[in-house]
Amino acid sequence: LETRTQHWPDESSCEVFAASLARNAALADATLELEGTLGAGKTTFVRHLLRALGVQGRIKSPTYAVVELYELERPGLPPLAVSHFDFYRFESPDEWEDAGFRELFAAPGLKLCEWAEKVAGRLPPPDLRIGLQMEADDSRTVTLQALTPRGQELLR
Ligand code: ADP
Ligand code: MG
Repeated sequence: LETRTQHWPDESSCEVFAASLARNAALADATLELEGTLGAGKTTFVRHLLRALGVQGRIKSPTYAVVELYELERPGLPPLAVSHFDFYRFESPDEWEDAGFRELFAAPGLKLCEWAEKVAGRLPPPDLRIGLQMEADDSRTVTLQALTPRGQELLR
C-alpha cells in the first residue's frame, strides 16, 4: 500500500525509530516482518522495541528457540503478549503445527518475525515489513512497507 525509506547512520536511529513505534497505538496487535541478511540489525531492532515497551533484563535472540514470548504489563490495559520469532532454523512444515505457531498467530498480541521467508505461505500477511540493508559505511537503508491499514497507521 505504502512504502517509505529511512536512513539510519547508526544504531541510535534504530533506537529512535523503535521508540516511536512503541508509542503507536496500532502496534498492540500488529505483525511485523524484519528482513535483511545476517547482521543487518533485525534482532537489534526488536531489542530496542522491547526495551521501549518496558522489557527489563536480558532479551534473548530466539535463533535457537525459534520463539521468545513476553507478557508486558501496561497501566490501565490488559497485558500485551509479544512473540518474537526467528525462523532461521525452522526446518519442516510439521514444526509449524507441532510448535503451536498457528495458535500463537491467531491469538491477539504483537508478533515480530525474523526470517519469515523460511515459513512462506504459513504466516498471515504482515502489517509492516521492515527491510534492513547494510551499507559499506555500516549505516542502514531501511525500507518500511505497509501491507494493511494497520501497517499504514504504524507509518503515521
Ligand atoms: P540480525 O538479527 O539481522 O542477524 P543483529 O541485530 O543480531 O542482526 O546484529 C546487528 C549488528 O549490527 C549489531 O551488532 C548492531 O549493534 C549493529 N548495528 C550497527 N548499526 C546498526 C543500525 N543502524 N541498526 C541496527 N543495528 C546496527
Ligand atoms: Mg537475528
